Amino acid sequence: MNLQPAREAPYGTYSSLLGTECRYASSEGEASTHLVFDPHDPANTDQELGRVIRHEFGHVLGLIHEHERPDRPLVWDLPAVLAYYEPLTGWSEADIQQQVIEPYAGPSSPRRTGTRRRS
Ligand SMILES: [Zn+2]
Repeated sequence: MNLQPAREAPYGTYSSLLGTECRYASSEGEASTHLVFDPHDPANTDQELGRVIRHEFGHVLGLIHEHERPDRPLVWDLPAVLAYYEPLTGWSEADIQQQVIEPYAGPSSPRRTGTRRRS
C-alpha cells in the first residue's frame, strides 16, 4: 500500500487495487489507493470520510464487492446499471462492464475498484 499523495487523481476519486496487487503499484512508485476528498464538498462529513476509508481499506486487504463473486453470478438489468453508474462515476460502458458487471477473475487480472464522483 502506497500512501503518498496522488496529485493526478481529481477530487472525488476513491479507489484501490486489491490486496497484494497494491505492492506492484507501490514498487512502481504509483499510488495503490486513491482517497482524494474535496475539502469544500459539504457531503464529505466525518461519517462519509469514515465510510469511504473503511471501504477502500477493505480492498487493500483483498476484499472484493459481493456482486463480483464468481460463484454468485447475477442477472443484471444493463440499461438500468448504465443509467445509474454513468452520471455517478463518469465511466464509459466498458468501464462499467469491468467494474460492476464482470465477476472477479482472480489476481491474474488486476483491477482497480472504486468510484469517482462527478463534481
Ligand atoms: Zn469498492
